[in-house]
Amino acid sequence: MSQEQTQLLILGAGAAGLFAAIAAASRGLAVTVVDHARKPGRKIAISGGGRCNVTNTVVEASDYVCGNPHFVKSALARWTPQDMRRWLQDRGILLDEEAGGKLFCQQGAGAMVQCLWDEVRGLGVRLALNTVVRGVQREGGGFVVTTDTGTLRAPYLLVATGGLAWPQLGATGLGHDLARQFGLSVTPRRPGLVPLLAPQDQQALCRELAGISLPVRIAGRPVIAGDLLFTHQGLSGPAILDVSLFWKEGTSLTIDLAPGLDVAALLRGAPRLEVRNALARAMPARLAAALCQGLGLGGQAGQCSNKMLQLLEDAIHRFPFAPAATAGHGKAEVTLGGVDVSRIDSKTMQCKDVPGLLFAGEVLDVTGRLGGFNLHWAWASGHAAGQAGVTA
Ligand SMILES: Cc1cc2nc3c(=O)[nH]c(=O)nc-3n(C[C@H](O)[C@H](O)[C@H](O)COP(=O)(O)OP(=O)(O)OC[C@H]3O[C@@H](n4cnc5c(N)ncnc54)[C@H](O)[C@@H]3O)c2cc1C
Repeated sequence: MSQEQTQLLILGAGAAGLFAAIAAASRGLAVTVVDHARKPGRKIAISGGGRCNVTNTVVEASDYVCGNPHFVKSALARWTPQDMRRWLQDRGILLDEEAGGKLFCQQGAGAMVQCLWDEVRGLGVRLALNTVVRGVQREGGGFVVTTDTGTLRAPYLLVATGGLAWPQLGATGLGHDLARQFGLSVTPRRPGLVPLLAPQDQQALCRELAGISLPVRIAGRPVIAGDLLFTHQGLSGPAILDVSLFWKEGTSLTIDLAPGLDVAALLRGAPRLEVRNALARAMPARLAAALCQGLGLGGQAGQCSNKMLQLLEDAIHRFPFAPAATAGHGKAEVTLGGVDVSRIDSKTMQCKDVPGLLFAGEVLDVTGRLGGFNLHWAWASGHAAGQAGVTA
């Protein structure tokens, strides 16, 4: 069994851990990164459907859900999307901008991981992959990490083990357990950016409409606009993934399936068409047919009564959906909740009560909306930890 001393020991070779390693090693610190996976950055490699939505053109505190909405400001101010873009450009990685300011890696997610990997190795960071962490202890003002291959000691320990999303890729609650071990609290964790399952009475409808995608607006705070996708299990698509960050179990969503559509005018403009065919001018035909069928609405558009028109308006503009549940951590992109940030210094990512103990990335109670914000948080918080959290 080996014995090793380093200055900064990082648990987790994901986006936050690798970026913190780069920031610290660039300052001349000796850094070791431990991960139980065989390869680093596995989530980065599958991110954005293999295209890696690295960041967004504009990243603000309001793009995040966190117990303290001000917590993210300092790290975001010190590592901006422009910084990330420049850093990648200097290493030959270019970003393509898409709708909503999303910035994707032009060469794909694999190139992104390779870039980080090359940088880490070039800086002499030691990577202990395929290594199981057995325990962490405080000793002599520093930390001792026992693994299946030996013991590692360091004055600084950064926990960057991510959240619970995608356990099939090796996500565990190690970081949350360590936080509790050192006296920090962990806010309730639940799947985020996740599809929502249909309640029993809407399962058949969702199955029937599976594959249909359309732009919607979902009422609430905040109002969420974007595409919705009907699936065999319920609802998905960008708007639903975003709303999953705010949905509370037992509550219902109110969805506008055709924002801005004047249903009465549409029917008036096509009086001889069957109602479903008139509606199909403004929405997918299968959806129009299902809505009419649900209301028992047939006949010509010109003969639609005021009462029926009102019911149709409600079904289209105030479509109710009370999710039975989320699709779970296995289908979620992120974890809501995590290490309570109230005891973490927002500039250094260091725990206020345990000097030398740092947290970065998704393990913290910080969750971004869809669009590159979660990876950006991993870069920014990792950079803050590696830059300001560790003294050479
Ligand atoms: C399918 C999918 C697509 C996504 N696409 C995007 C996207 O395009 N843009 C975006 O911004 N965000 C995206 N995300 C979210 C984003 O990938 C994460 O928020 C981000 O990777 C978190 O970085 P992290 O370093 O904090 O954690 P992770 O990247 O999860 O890294 C944690 C590391 O810790 C290791 N680890 C965990 N437990 C242990 C343990 N017990 N012992 C040792 N090591 C351990 C893991 O193996 C892993 O390497 C996506 C997520 C998923 C699941």
